[in-house]
Amino acid sequence: MGREGRGKLQDFWTSLKKTGKGILMMDYDGTLAPIDAHRKQAFPFPGVRERVRKITRSPDCRLVIVSGRWTTELVGLLDLDPVPEIWGCHGMERLHPDGLLETGDLHEQEILGLVEADRWAISEGLKEISEKKPGCVALHYECDETLGPELKERARKTWARIARNRGLDVHEFHGGIELRPPGYDKGNVVNTLLSESEGDPVAVFLGDGLSDEDAFRAIKGRGLGILVSQEWRPTEAQAWLKPPGQLLDFLDTWSEICGGEN
Ligand SMILES: [Mg+2]
Repeated sequence: MGREGRGKLQDFWTSLKKTGKGILMMDYDGTLAPIDAHRKQAFPFPGVRERVRKITRSPDCRLVIVSGRWTTELVGLLDLDPVPEIWGCHGMERLHPDGLLETGDLHEQEILGLVEADRWAISEGLKEISEKKPGCVALHYECDETLGPELKERARKTWARIARNRGLDVHEFHGGIELRPPGYDKGNVVNTLLSESEGDPVAVFLGDGLSDEDAFRAIKGRGLGILVSQEWRPTEAQAWLKPPGQLLDFLDTWSEICGGEN
């Protein structure tokens, strides 16, 4: 991050100190937890859980997890009490802090497309790396190093065809592809959260992957997008943190400003 990015972060802290009200939106995999080929064991970086717990208990600042994963998986991996607000499956699911779970609607054609994509994956012997979740189906190439480029190309073409026929969108992410209905992405989650927020809170979105770019675009002009990554890359984010050290420092600074109980 250049001087401009550091300046944006400084301005952000100054605004948060002034208002005392903030909304902290964060992706999970690659942001709060290392990317792990064993997805069921991708626990948060050491030190993250305590900090997230503290911020969740802060009365004036809101913490929201926004992920492509299923909310039930995130609840298990985060292992937090209280459970923070979690948007799963790119906004298809919203788990409120009081435990209420909202789920988005799917049209019949979309459901048929997801089933078709999943069946194709199983028929190609890809069951182990396919992930079924509400409203989406994903193939995690990163979980199987033996996969050749031909199979990946066939998967890409087949899923693109299914998407076209059934009105779904294909998305590439770090290490795989995913099918989901249009309108479900992290940018729309950010738009919803900001439109609901009263009192103009200072807003920030932290993320690492391609699916976070929608959120970075949505927050521009209304808050700060922060890339969490070992390396800088072309992005819509305006600032950069290297995990886990700078991420933990960021969460500590947030707690200092917004308070929160241990
Ligand atoms: Mg991520």
